[in-house]
Amino acid sequence: MFTKVSAIPPYLFARLDELKEEVQRSGADVIDLGIGDPDLPTPKSIIDVLQREAHSPENHRYPSYKGMLAYRRAVAGWYQKRFGVNLDPERSVLALIGSKEGIAHLPLAFVNPGDVVLMPSPAYPVYFASTALAGGSPYIMPLLRENGFKPDLSAIKPEILHKARIMFLNYPNNPTAAVADIEFFRQAIELAQKYNFIIAHDAAYSEIAYDGFKPLSIMEVEGADQVAVEFHSLSKTFNMTGWRIGSAVGNPEIISGLGSIKTNVDSGVFQAIQYAGIEALTNQLPKIEEHNRIYRERRDVLVEGLRRLGFRTDKPKAAFYIWMEAPREYTSSQLTERFLKKAHVLTTPGAGFGRYGEGYIRFALTVDVPRLREALRRIETIWP
Ligand SMILES: *Cc1c(COP(=O)(O)O)cnc(C)c1O
Repeated sequence: MFTKVSAIPPYLFARLDELKEEVQRSGADVIDLGIGDPDLPTPKSIIDVLQREAHSPENHRYPSYKGMLAYRRAVAGWYQKRFGVNLDPERSVLALIGSKEGIAHLPLAFVNPGDVVLMPSPAYPVYFASTALAGGSPYIMPLLRENGFKPDLSAIKPEILHKARIMFLNYPNNPTAAVADIEFFRQAIELAQKYNFIIAHDAAYSEIAYDGFKPLSIMEVEGADQVAVEFHSLSKTFNMTGWRIGSAVGNPEIISGLGSIKTNVDSGVFQAIQYAGIEALTNQLPKIEEHNRIYRERRDVLVEGLRRLGFRTDKPKAAFYIWMEAPREYTSSQLTERFLKKAHVLTTPGAGFGRYGEGYIRFALTVDVPRLREALRRIETIWP
């Protein structure tokens, strides 16, 4: 009876929450470096706009399916300013109820049973789950340290590529915090053109970056507008995970296919939230630098602290995660369990992001420096 739901694995973070509650019930003060949910507040003027617009009766009715034109224009204006990419707000931009929503619906629009969907491992779990729900066949592209946590596109056989409908990519990457250069994106676009599949680039972390590094949009690559769609979100950029607003941009046919699924399953984003999104994208960009300075300090404290304890980890250029190698004697789950039960520090086991995440655990930089130092101190007392 429940065959469709049993095809998808239980959502990783829901399980972590349960485990955390169990330890908390015993009275422990858990430091949560598990889920990637910013602890910093949404900038005040964004909240002010929501407040003002929430009072306006016009905003109480059903919003448009695609999003208000003013919001889509704000997204296009931001892409122009940030990436030098021109987008037609009428045909190439779609409002989303958070980017997760768009990512989850994309395969329903384009994947038939038996079609292949190429996806990285380790990865954000939604690529796999949405593919399974659409009846597609996931094809795993391993992200290995020796390749800079980028898939080896030349290793995918033509018979797979012929059956592919979508390739999911995500840079800056969750969970590895790796970044991609223009050459990698070019290769991916070229492959998609040759084999006629969609590139779905998840750019949730495009604005979280350090030391002068500026992540790219895949839409900057020539020809991307023929085969690609890019997902963006205000969640991580403006600390708005609870608000549920994002966007998909790119090829008009892909945007319209995704839009037709959405007209049948949801009714758009509350307009007052779209107004708040416009405020974010047009007036609150300087806030991003401020947030990044905070994450950078946390990154330095955690990476240096972990290295002092003898762990191996890179210092990431982007995203707010530390992807740390688990010492050989531990599986990723054993190590996270030990940290949680003995040090009351919650991290995420790499295996939860797919089998190529095994051997690593992920720390989210979503607590302040004193708490991070406390986490390091606790780990030190139980380690080795
Ligand atoms: C957080 C996250 C998202 C989803 O963000 P929304 O809140 O749904 O916009 C998408 N992809 C990745 C990789 C993420 O980490």
